Amino acid sequence: MPLTAATDVDRGNPPERTPRISYVDTHHVRMPCRAGDVAILPGLMSTKISLPIATLATRGAERLLRGHPWVFRSDIATAPRVEAGLVDVRGPGGRKLGTALFSPGSEITIRRLEADPDVVVDDSWWERTLARAIARRAPLASLTTACRLVHGEGDGMPSLVVDQYGDILVLQLLSAGLETQRAHIVNALHTLLKPTGILARNDPSVRTREGLERTVEVLAGTVPDTVQITEHGVHYLAALRTGQKTGAFLDQRDNRALIGSLARGRALDCFSYHGSFAMHLARNAEHVTAVDVSAHALERATENASLNGLTNITPVTADAFEYLREARTRGDRFDTIVVDPPAFAKNRASVTHAMRGYADINRIAMQLLNPGGLMFTASCSHHVHLSDFLEVLEYAAAESGRSMAIRSITLQPLDHPMLLTVPETGYLKGAILEAMS
Ligand code: SAH
Repeated sequence: MPLTAATDVDRGNPPERTPRISYVDTHHVRMPCRAGDVAILPGLMSTKISLPIATLATRGAERLLRGHPWVFRSDIATAPRVEAGLVDVRGPGGRKLGTALFSPGSEITIRRLEADPDVVVDDSWWERTLARAIARRAPLASLTTACRLVHGEGDGMPSLVVDQYGDILVLQLLSAGLETQRAHIVNALHTLLKPTGILARNDPSVRTREGLERTVEVLAGTVPDTVQITEHGVHYLAALRTGQKTGAFLDQRDNRALIGSLARGRALDCFSYHGSFAMHLARNAEHVTAVDVSAHALERATENASLNGLTNITPVTADAFEYLREARTRGDRFDTIVVDPPAFAKNRASVTHAMRGYADINRIAMQLLNPGGLMFTASCSHHVHLSDFLEVLEYAAAESGRSMAIRSITLQPLDHPMLLTVPETGYLKGAILEAMS
């Protein structure tokens, strides 16, 4: 059915009878058109509206052909002189390479959305692509009321994050090119999920590199400050506007359940934040000490514990490194330990420093384990690869004087897909270790 301009611009509202000037966003230019006219929208016509053309140098084209959606500014032969939006990507010799987000001010100037040059990126494309990402998460429905619906490049939608917390969606639009697609994305999410509210947590610093403002704003409906979610039977409050990431660390969901199921005796949760690991440990351990440097985070952990009727968690506001050292001096021992620090390596330059941090904290944790004790340890630094992390653990074990076994290695959960050809989609790795004696 052809859409009229008014229905498209202001989706859901019927076209007005009296002609008025409205605008159709044809990706770059705001084109006036009259309500009641058949909209000239890409994707709704038999012939595709031509987009500005970006021609890549050989290296840029090869990157796309090898399965990575990004093209850096230096690998573009000729960029169109237009503002951020969609572009038609061509390789050397005019080879058609599909449609991409164009961010003229960013080092990552091109992010390809669609490889097929005959497929138009429009409302219907977003709806189909988002529907596929949502379907990919279907197995999680019985386990959790919160999950990541779109993991950017991992779901073929570069620079887009969509997290679901019950009836609320939280979005992050992390490139200038993607910002131009905001209305299409919001429309499609409405159609597919009928959320009661959509929040944009557009406050990550990467937005600055794209020349975009850092804001937190409600895009649709109403959005409460917190939403109670249930993950593997544990309830907790996600702080959508102010919490880390989009309100919670959804990526550790399965690891919490795994170490929770193995927990026993005296347990310790280092870098506890809102107590999500601590609560899973507390279901099987006798007692859990939850350590975090932020007293504010631990207040929420205490609130979360009482939501679950758990009375065996003691919050301790402290630097985890200091706490562990002091515990060692006191001769404390634990049967279960979680070490889930923030990303120590924020960039490549800080990897060596980060490795020292991981080695240090893991070595002391190993020394605090009772014989037969288990620990879950993780790194969420993208720049520290699994092989580096295992090397650090090997080093920490050697220095600890303990005999440590790897019981399990974990990567990202189902809702955070890692593309083999896009290493940037992977960042989280963890291990369950056992003190053998
Ligand atoms: N384990 C949590 C996420 C941890 S996020 C979960 O699964 O939800 C990292 C946490 O580490 C934050 O709460 C931050 O306040 C805390 N933190 C950062 N540096 C710290 C330090 N040196 N000692 C203790 N906590 C620290």
